[in-house]
Amino acid sequence: MGRGKSSDPVDAMGFHDDSSIIAAPATRQENMSQIRTRVAPSPTGDPHVGTAYIALFNRCFAHQQGGSFILRIEDTDQARSTKKSEDFILQSLRWLGLDWDEGPDTGGDFGPYRQSERSEIYTRHINELLDAGHAFHCFCSAERLDEVRKTQMQNKQQLGYDGHCLSLGKEEVQQRLAAGEEHVIRMKIPEQGECEFQDLLRGNVSIAWSQIDMQVLMKSDGLPTYHFANVVDDHLMQISHVIRGEEWINSVPKHVLLYQYFGWQPPVFCHMPLLRNPDKSKLSKRKNPTSINYYRDMGYLPEALLNYLGMMGWTMPGGEEKFSLSEMTAQFDIERVSLGGPIFDIEKLDWLNGKYIREDLDDSAFIKAYADWAFAPERVGRIVPLIKQRVERFSDVADLAHLFVAGVIPLTADSFQHKKLDQASCLQILQFSLWRLEALENFDRDSVEACLQQLAEALELKIRDFLFPLFVAISGKAVSTSVIESISIIGLDVARARIRHAIDSLGGISKKQAKRLEKDFQALA
Ligand code: GLU
Repeated sequence: MGRGKSSDPVDAMGFHDDSSIIAAPATRQENMSQIRTRVAPSPTGDPHVGTAYIALFNRCFAHQQGGSFILRIEDTDQARSTKKSEDFILQSLRWLGLDWDEGPDTGGDFGPYRQSERSEIYTRHINELLDAGHAFHCFCSAERLDEVRKTQMQNKQQLGYDGHCLSLGKEEVQQRLAAGEEHVIRMKIPEQGECEFQDLLRGNVSIAWSQIDMQVLMKSDGLPTYHFANVVDDHLMQISHVIRGEEWINSVPKHVLLYQYFGWQPPVFCHMPLLRNPDKSKLSKRKNPTSINYYRDMGYLPEALLNYLGMMGWTMPGGEEKFSLSEMTAQFDIERVSLGGPIFDIEKLDWLNGKYIREDLDDSAFIKAYADWAFAPERVGRIVPLIKQRVERFSDVADLAHLFVAGVIPLTADSFQHKKLDQASCLQILQFSLWRLEALENFDRDSVEACLQQLAEALELKIRDFLFPLFVAISGKAVSTSVIESISIIGLDVARARIRHAIDSLGGISKKQAKRLEKDFQALA
């Protein structure tokens, strides 16, 4: 990989041509005063079951050894992070019983636990790296970086920064900074050799430095990137074990190098296997609901979902399938994690959830749990005004309220018979509506209404006709309580599941049709 020349970054960093960096051994308990683990979600969307899975294993690992489990919010991506997403993450982890010993709301000795409140710490640390010559200012424009990338692609070279700004002299850098020129700060990377490190589950891992990019550490907005903030915080928060998803394993060389630059001892790294869809692809919301909110809204018990997540890549020593969080914690042994990709299979979860309901809820506990789920005051407060207008006797209520407590509603292609809309139009309306709803920031009644009304206009359809397939998808009937209000109450996760089911009932959408629909959809915007 062609890298630019610096004064001599390699020697300055203490590496030699054939150097490798050996990180800390996989177990370093003897040096550790305390086991401290963390989960570090970025609040950029729905609370993901993958976050809960990683939180569960971190919590069990720490608590089994009398250590602490920390929640840190990694919100340095200002454009994508939202307070709403952070709130959802906190609520859903708590709902599952995965509470934390230190975190943004509970506090602790190593706060703040929200990266957006730690800017001054990152600035201080980046200056340390700059002073020591381990990091450098880069003034390259987006256009130049695009060009470099294109050339590298054409020449089938490793993609990455070409080191252009490594050769800038101190004075020039100072002048350009003084002139307020936009820039980022990147880390220096050895040109040759391998980075070797230990992963608790995989043993020795070795990655060539030539594959590692000169990572941006500070962005032009003055905020750190994930890699930089993550390492600084893990060190300052005295995290002893970094247990996270395997998608981060290729980032370890950068992290290990940062620890080395600062002269810090790295934590033990442990990369957990990724959750997969039944077809073995990486778990994604295209194929499976991934939001914890979906499982809550569909009426799963938190204990059952947590138990199921505990079965992802892990088995109890006695082989039990049903176990509580405290049982898992007591028996936890990270060495029992197996690396084969664990399958998140909803049918298996349904089976386990049913077992919990039958075995753990006596009739009065069942009544209470069901009532808490179905009649939560905030929810009922929105449903009652909708159905009350249509009720003549209380015996009408169950039928009208069914859509609010149902899961996926049984449908066939015949459910969509309509005098003006054929099957293709129904499919188009359903798919376009789903895409529009998924893009909504707020799911209140007015936002849902504006979004669907605008789509009906764009498709040049009367709102009444346009809403027909949605009525069927959401309520199973051509007529029900306001479908807009209903969508807003059941929420995106359940609405998505029903619209998807409606699409499947209409014969589904082939890859070819999906491409066409996507094109037409883009054209509408
Ligand atoms: N913020 C990262 C994430 O969203 C954390 C990764 C890590 O645990 O280091 O997954």
